[in-house]
Amino acid sequence: MSDYDYDLFVIGAGSGGVRAARMSASYGARVGIAEDRYLGGTCVNVGCVPKKLFVYASHVSEEIHNAKGFGWDIDHMSFDWSTLIKNKNTEIQRLNGVYKNLLDGTGVETINGRAMIVDAHTVEIDGKQFTAEKLLVATGGWPSVPEIPGKEHIISSNEAFFLESLPEKIIIVGGGYIAVEFAGIFNGLGVETTLLYRGPLFLRGFDQDLRTTLAVEMQKKGINIKFNSNIKQIDKLDNKLLATLEDDTQLAAGQIMYATGRKPMTDNMGLENVGIELNEKNAIKVNNDYQTNVPSIYAIGDVTDRVNLTPVALAEGMVLAKRFFANEHKTVDYSDIPTCVFSQPNLGTVGLTEDQAREKYSDIDIYKSKFTPMKYSLSDNDEKTVMKMIVDKNSDRVIGVHMLGPDAGEIIQGIGIAMKAGARKQDFDSTIGIHPTAAEEFVTMREPTTD
Ligand code: FAD
Ligand code: NDP
Repeated sequence: MSDYDYDLFVIGAGSGGVRAARMSASYGARVGIAEDRYLGGTCVNVGCVPKKLFVYASHVSEEIHNAKGFGWDIDHMSFDWSTLIKNKNTEIQRLNGVYKNLLDGTGVETINGRAMIVDAHTVEIDGKQFTAEKLLVATGGWPSVPEIPGKEHIISSNEAFFLESLPEKIIIVGGGYIAVEFAGIFNGLGVETTLLYRGPLFLRGFDQDLRTTLAVEMQKKGINIKFNSNIKQIDKLDNKLLATLEDDTQLAAGQIMYATGRKPMTDNMGLENVGIELNEKNAIKVNNDYQTNVPSIYAIGDVTDRVNLTPVALAEGMVLAKRFFANEHKTVDYSDIPTCVFSQPNLGTVGLTEDQAREKYSDIDIYKSKFTPMKYSLSDNDEKTVMKMIVDKNSDRVIGVHMLGPDAGEIIQGIGIAMKAGARKQDFDSTIGIHPTAAEEFVTMREPTTD
């Protein structure tokens, strides 16, 4: 056992930090963890969890609308934002407690406060120093908002989770996961929603067919989407905000939310004291073993700005704990990571997009299906589901699967396992479908598209 206070000291009790800390402690290591804000980090407090609860809440309005076709007569429909916020906060507090118990239960010492790195083996929290053989930085990220006049009037996703009241109108700026998800959330809750994206089509990097159909579906639900559009200035009038766009048109709203990306949390934590190298986006540079240029200091999760998703931070924390204290030298497999934008409808995806597949493979087949799900057949809802499968013709391997439609996240998770197992198109073809589901379409698509 070393002379240090701990074998491992983790900075940041978010997804990656908590996983690394409690797994390490479960292998017998002496572990400390510092957290200056909230146990569970971004995902639990201002990310995945409250976001998904909001998506569920928001989608209820559409379910009620569709229910009429099934014979339900729901004449009085109202929504109370403060009830949603109160219940969401109670649930998050419960989860904070779960995280505390998980850490306590494995013997991890939790220290509340902001950690500063003093030297390669020492951190300081509220004037008290702690030493460790290894330090792990898992400090996550923070919303990044461009410098524009009037920036002080905007909110980010952090504040959106705690608004005292819902605005009548909201403008959301950005075209990534958060902007698209929150446009759906606010629209479903009855807020007049405008989404501004600087490029020609949002969700850059996702499959083009699905992005295009999602934009159409969101517009059909009443979201005002303006592509090739950005704000140049925001002014506060009496009780509203006035956005002046780059083409000089003006839009008024009660709130303006920026979802223009996140920056790694590397400021004011003493990284300069040990000379930790950052990349051009201020993310901590690590090698394949998550080790920084200072051999005793490691980093995982969003602070390294690689794949900024909770399950990835968890996997990195797990691999590192096993490597440090269980003598297992596995690595995280970053290929074919399934992911879902919780837009309405969901956009779930795993593997290569059509464009990426065309670049990488000489001969591919595309299987595509676009239909209105049975779920909507008795309503006036004509929302389209799109399913798309990309196959390398030479090996018959399925190299990309994409779905836009209800529960796409749930469906693509299963497809992700098949792809990890190296599934070929003939394996999909020989799988018996579950009828009647939308998912069965993935095992019944027989003819490649010719377009
Ligand atoms: P975090 O979870 O951010 O944890 C870092 C922790 O470190 C924080 O608690 C912070 O307070 C603490 N900290 C920072 N500096 C210090 C310091 N000096 N001392 C002490 N403590 C410190 N991902 C998904 O997979 N699915 C989703 O649906 C999803 N939805 C999201 C929705 C939103 C609105 C946002 C913002 C993110 C979402 N994400 C989602 C991304 C996901 O939340 C992150 O990828 C994940 O939380 C990263 O985990 P992490 O451990 O790297 O950092
Ligand atoms: P993203 O990086 O996904 O998207 C940022 C968006 O903002 C892009 O459309 C980008 O445009 C645009 N943008 C960037 N800078 C500017 C600017 N100066 N002016 C106007 N627009 C700008 O970030 P998010 O904030 O949406 O989310 C952060 C990360 O959190 C995600 O990438 C993801 O890793 C994670 N997350 C995951 C979720 C999930 O799994 N469901 C949900 C929410 C977040 P352009 O494309 O042109 O660069």
